[in-house]
Amino acid sequence: MKKLKKICPKCGEKLVNILYGMPSIEAIEAEKQKTLYLGGCEESEKDPIYHCFKCNRNYYKNLKEDNRNV
Ligand SMILES: [Zn+2]
Repeated sequence: MKKLKKICPKCGEKLVNILYGMPSIEAIEAEKQKTLYLGGCEESEKDPIYHCFKCNRNYYKNLKEDNRNV
């Protein structure tokens, strides 16, 4: 599966995927390494799928910013 690297439109930092649902030990470790962001247990199609650790913002698939928690 081909993975495209997404870049934060604000700061240019690499975006990481947001993982929803109950995280595994590996996922918690991955978040510490900032290669993954844990989005919590609730999942819906409207939720953003990318996270920027530098800006601490979430982004949708089209890199539209999630303004709900700003
Ligand atoms: Zn950023």
